[in-house]
This record gives sequence, structure tokens and C-alpha cells, in this order.
Amino acid sequence: MVQPYKHEPFTDFTNETEREGYLQGLKTVESYLGQDYDLLIGGKRISTEDKIVSNNPSNKEEVIGRVSKANRELAEKAMQSAVEAFKTWKKVKSETRADVLFKAAAIIRRRKHEFSALLTKEAGKPWKEADADTAEAIDFLEYYARQMLAIKDGVPVNSRPNEFNRYGYIPLGVGVIISPWNFPLAIMAGTTVAAIVTGNTVLLKPASTTPIVAAKFVEVMEEAGLPAGVLNFVPGSGAEVGDYLVDHKDTRFISFTGSRDVGLRIFERSSKLNEGQIWLKRVIAEMGGKDTIVVDSEADLELAAQSIVAGAFGFSGQKCSACSRAVIVEDVYDQVLNRVVELTNELTLGNPEEQSTFMGPVIDQSAFDKIMSYVEIGKQEGKLMTGGEGDSSKGFFIKPTVIADLQPNDRLMQEEIFGPVVGFTKAKDFTEAIEIANNTEYGLTGAVITRNRAHIEQAREDFHVGNLYFNRSCTGAIVGYQPFGGFNMSGTDSKAGGPDYLLLHMQAKTTSEMY
Ligand code: NAD
Repeated sequence: MVQPYKHEPFTDFTNETEREGYLQGLKTVESYLGQDYDLLIGGKRISTEDKIVSNNPSNKEEVIGRVSKANRELAEKAMQSAVEAFKTWKKVKSETRADVLFKAAAIIRRRKHEFSALLTKEAGKPWKEADADTAEAIDFLEYYARQMLAIKDGVPVNSRPNEFNRYGYIPLGVGVIISPWNFPLAIMAGTTVAAIVTGNTVLLKPASTTPIVAAKFVEVMEEAGLPAGVLNFVPGSGAEVGDYLVDHKDTRFISFTGSRDVGLRIFERSSKLNEGQIWLKRVIAEMGGKDTIVVDSEADLELAAQSIVAGAFGFSGQKCSACSRAVIVEDVYDQVLNRVVELTNELTLGNPEEQSTFMGPVIDQSAFDKIMSYVEIGKQEGKLMTGGEGDSSKGFFIKPTVIADLQPNDRLMQEEIFGPVVGFTKAKDFTEAIEIANNTEYGLTGAVITRNRAHIEQAREDFHVGNLYFNRSCTGAIVGYQPFGGFNMSGTDSKAGGPDYLLLHMQAKTTSEMY
């Protein structure tokens, strides 16, 4: 029996030892900056001429590392390794597979500050955000290992006299794991190990801006005892390697987390039958968000302002769950808006390696340009209250930006910006506020700040999002506590970190024996 699951506590950085630990982590990461990392195919390391170079978004000149880049030929080789390894891995006992995850969790926990420091360097995460990403990766390992143990014997079904029926789950086959850069450790690791612990073999294609942390995670999985060929590491271009693997006849399922447009492309391509393919591919696609915090007139307005600021600007708004819209009932609109502007002006923007920094950079030049173009759109559609400036000379820094007096259908209120920009709009009453909250094509997270119990119940029924929070911000779901996934164009609602998640990587088999 394993101990019950509990989520990994966040680090208290006011504690001197923890602070020192993180700074030591930074030193460790600095000692290996600029190194080369190989592909891993069938347990063999393969180096290519062509590399993906990973840079520090706070300091463009700093190279975090260089990763070999797979092409189609190497992707094919990785696919054949995964097909071969599946023949044996699927027969390995669930307990043994779970043990690999438990050991990997222990290794990452031991090197927690090093992984967090690497997230600071490679993704621009300030201390707390980096620590939360590492903790979430540990949680996924601990939680999915236990979930596998819970479902390994299937579930009971009825049997008539002289008959014995059984119902259990078996793995699917080879999975292609395609992960985003914004939770480069947690989501990359979580989606990979969910597929592995259920008996599948995988090809992992990490995001091209954050491949080093993925390479380090792959090393951890090897150290934890994962057999060769079960996890194949194939960084590469989305268009080249991504399309090739999505289309491949031997791909049984795709686990994708990323943008709406790439998700749609994968969904469409994977629905086409290719020569020699004998199944319908399964697709898990978790996509974008346009998430709203609704503030009622009967509400703790300080809590409302703090929740909006934390949700909008934590990790520079680069979370699928980020608060990018604030819908405020008109009686309290000015008060909440003014307080949000005050709090925003107190935020520190700068180098995420400094403990005092609240907000670091955005991920790269194209994100910087896209966000700045939305700031311009915002200035035309509404009123710029604070922020609106960016500087990409050394790193990609954008001031936290508040745009007020928008209309619910404005582009700023409809399109995912994925940066530190929040738009405000007014609602005449609570019912209208919920209607506005629902008027995007997304449905990922949302929050309601209210003291009115009837309004909580109204929102529970009518606010159509996968993760709805009351009297708190809309970011920060915890594995095993707030299973995470969205409706509509936010994806397939797979609910990562939830009790049903592993089953998406398996198929049910019924057997019936007559006695
Ligand atoms: P992205 O869609 O640009 O890239 C995601 C991954 O897809 C990367 O690994 C990329 O290389 C790969 N890719 C690109 N083209 C591909 C193709 N043709 N075939 C296969 N793979 C391809 O997203 P991103 O910029 O890395 O991440 C940000 C997005 O992810 C935001 O929209 C955010 O809301 C979303 N996101 C969603 C969740 C969620 O749980 N719903 C979580 C995190 C991020």
C-alpha cells in the first residue's frame, strides 16, 4: 500500500535555507549552461548537426543549451523504437510502472531548486512561479502513479450463474506527446508520464523554446529505471516532425497541449486514415483560454482586485488559465478598476532571478510583438489605464497593462493574448456579467467574487467553464484537488490531474468465461 496522495507544498522563500537552496540551484544551472543535448531514440543518444538553440528570455544573449533536432527520418526511427518497446512495456506490471514514477518524483524533489532555477533561466519564471511548476511536475508523478494502482484491476461488472465477467483497461499503443513552453516541466512531464504509466510508449516533442528542461526530465526518467524505447525524445519543428508524427499510421493517440490553432490542425489531421492504419486515433487536445473574473456588487472588493492582479499578471499572463477579462457589475466598477491599477503599479518587473521580482519577461520576440500589437488594439478599443510599454532590447519585457471600458465583443475581450494584459468591461447586473463571461469561444477557467450565495449557485450552473472558482483567482489548479481542463475551443476537457485522466490513455476490455 502506498501512502495517500498529498500535493507537494510550495517553498517558503522567507526561510533562509530555502532561499540559499534556490540560489545554489541557479549556480548548478549556470555550471551547465550552453551544453549540447541529444535525441533519445530506443535508449540511444543521437546527435544531429541541426540544433534548436534555447535562449534566456530575460537575457537573449545567454544560451541555455542546444538540442539536437529530429527530422522525419529520425522521427521514423523513434516511432519504430516505440512500436517495438510497446510489445514488452505493455506487459510490465502496473506496480513496476508506477514505481518508475515514484522514483522520478523523488529525484526531482531532491533537485527541486535546480529544476526551478532552470525554469527561471529557460522560461523566465520568477521564483514562486518556477517553484509551482516544479511542484506540479512532482504532483503529476505522484498522483498518476497512485491512479494507476487504483485502476489496475478494472472495475466490477455483474456475472450471471456459471459465468464470470471481467472488465479492465489495457494500454492503447504508441502516443505522441506534444507540449507547450508555458509549463515546460509540469505539463510536459504530466502528459508524458500519464501515457507511460498506463503501459503505452511515447515520442515526446517538447516546445522549441524550452527543450532543455525536457531533456533534463528525460534523463530523470532514465535514472528512475525506464526501459529503452519507452520514452523517445524527439525535439523538432512542429510543422515537420509534428505533422509527420500526427499523420503516422502507427500513432495510436496524440496528447497535445498548446494553442487553439495547432490543436485544431492536429484534430483534423488525426481524423484522416493513412495507408496501413487500422484504428481511429484518439486525440487529447488541451488548448487556449480567454478567462474571466466576474465581480459582483456584493463582494469583497479588495479580494476582487487582488485576484484580478494575481490572475492577470502571474507569469506575465502566460497561462491558459490567466485572467484576461474582468467583468464588473457597474456599481463597483470604478472602485475595482482603480484598485487594480494601484496594485498593478506596485508590481516589480525585471530579472526573474531576483527574489523580489514579481513579473519577468515574455517568452520570445514573436510573443513580444504579438502582445504589443494587442496593446495597440486595446488602446483603440478601450482606455489604457496603466502599462502599455515594452522593451525587447535585452529581454522581452512588457509592463503589466490594464485596458478599461471595453465592449464585450471587442477583440481584446475575445482573442487570447497570452501576455500581461487585462481588459475591463462593465455589466449592468450579475446575470449580464455571467452572460458576458460566457460570450467567448473558449471555456477554460473563470472566477466569481461575490458574497451572495444565490449568485454562487447561479454561476455554478450557468458559467460554462471547465474550472470555476469562487472568491479566489482563476489560476493555480492543483493536481488531484482541482482537475484541470476546459470546454468548447479550450479543448477536449481531459481534466489533467483528475481521476478520469489515465483512462483516456487506455481502452476497456471485457472478458466473459462460462464455468
Ligand atoms: P503552440 O500551439 O504554439 O505549441 C504547442 C506545441 O505544439 C509545441 O511543442 C509546438 O512545437 C507544437 N506544434 C506546433 N505546430 C505543430 C504541428 N503542426 N503539429 C504538431 N505539433 C505542432 O502553443 P504554445 O505557444 O507552446 O503554448 C501556448 C498555448 O498553449 C496557449 O494557447 C495556451 O492557452 C495553451 N495552453 C493550454 C493549456 C491547457 O491545459 N488548456 C495549458 C498550457 C497552455
